Amino acid sequence: MPPESKKIDVLIIGASASGLMCAIEAGKRGRTVIVLDHANKAGKKILMSGGGRCNFTNMDVTADNFISHNPHFCKSALSRYTQWDFIAMVNEHHIAYHERELGKLFCDDSAKDILEMLLLECKKAGIKINLRCEISDIEAIGNGYLIKSANGNFQSSSLVVACGGLSIPKMCASPLGYKIAEQFEHHIWPTSAGLVPLTLQNNDKEKLEVLSGISVESNVSSKRIEFNKENILFTHRGLSGPAILQISSYWQAGEAINVNLLPDIDVEDLLKTRQSKQPNTKLKNILTEVLPKRLIPALFEEALIEMPLQELSQVRISNIASQLQQWEIKPNGTEGYRTAEVTLGGIDCNELSSKTMESKKAKGLYFIGEVVDVTGWLGGYNFQWAWSSGWCAGQVV
Ligand SMILES: Cc1cc2nc3c(=O)[nH]c(=O)nc-3n(C[C@H](O)[C@H](O)[C@H](O)COP(=O)(O)OP(=O)(O)OC[C@H]3O[C@@H](n4cnc5c(N)ncnc54)[C@H](O)[C@@H]3O)c2cc1C
Repeated sequence: MPPESKKIDVLIIGASASGLMCAIEAGKRGRTVIVLDHANKAGKKILMSGGGRCNFTNMDVTADNFISHNPHFCKSALSRYTQWDFIAMVNEHHIAYHERELGKLFCDDSAKDILEMLLLECKKAGIKINLRCEISDIEAIGNGYLIKSANGNFQSSSLVVACGGLSIPKMCASPLGYKIAEQFEHHIWPTSAGLVPLTLQNNDKEKLEVLSGISVESNVSSKRIEFNKENILFTHRGLSGPAILQISSYWQAGEAINVNLLPDIDVEDLLKTRQSKQPNTKLKNILTEVLPKRLIPALFEEALIEMPLQELSQVRISNIASQLQQWEIKPNGTEGYRTAEVTLGGIDCNELSSKTMESKKAKGLYFIGEVVDVTGWLGGYNFQWAWSSGWCAGQVV
């Protein structure tokens, strides 16, 4: 061992959601813990999450809300440290929060409350957080690990990799976690941007960019899954909003997605009923009752929307209904890691213990949080995975 190494029990790389939770739990057990991070501030993603209000968990968490090559892996951690456990911690700290649609829990005031709670718990547990710390090398030595960094060398019996995925490089994301996994011969599933806006083919983009800012509650589906009654948002680059972010985690290049812009209405029935009651009313006037006005000329020819209902044939009515309720659109890509909320893929779960997150390849090495091949839906699920996996590792490191 080089003489200048600082000896501790647990070294954690990544001072954010999963790393801080693991540090708190290990510290409570009396372990000496240092957390290293190259950022100038802990928990940057927590601070920017949920539009600044941090959607910290969800009332309804099951393995079905996660994407992984091993869909069973997350079950153990999620059942050992549940959303109720995290909510209890939030309550203990008197943080005000509220429930939004689909069970999402957000802070009333600011995401800062969640970060401050974690940092306070770290302080109580005697955790040292070493920021602005570039890691240059990691070696397995004896019964532990030697970590060389710009802030000195550390030797620990447990090394926890909590350095997240590749989304938002500006927020200090880096591939270090995957590199460490590779160094210790772990298999890594290919990574890609998840919970990310979709971009459009040029002709659709030109047609739809005038709709920028409009949001419509919709059902959105792809070959693999359907998300119901969440908003889609038209932007000047393409499509965003919760429904699109959700489907983006399942979308594959070349595929079309299907959008029902009026999930609560039978459009064919509506048009036929109005045709008999108000035959002289123009189609556009009926559609503006149920859809944003600007959307209608972007989806239909002017001559059609100017037609009185009595001139619409049954076939035309069916076509209008399917254009609105089975609108097929083929994105040309995603906005990528620049704006993605998460990274899909990552460290193969089959090479980790689902109970402790310890590597099956290297004793004393642990992977937690987003770097693992477990990706949550939009709705607080990614933080719940960070809390649960961090907590599990924290019991044993
Ligand atoms: C804009 C945005 C909004 C989001 N909103 C929500 C939300 O409301 N609810 C939700 O559940 N999820 C949300 N997420 C996802 C959530 O933030 C992540 O899934 C979660 O933070 C992952 O936690 P983690 O600890 O694994 O990694 P991160 O939170 O990404 O933390 C990784 C840490 O490792 C450090 N690090 C990285 N590389 C190195 C290196 N080379 N050396 C040293 N340190 C390094 C980073 O600086 C960082 O502090 C959002 C994500 C984004 C980008």
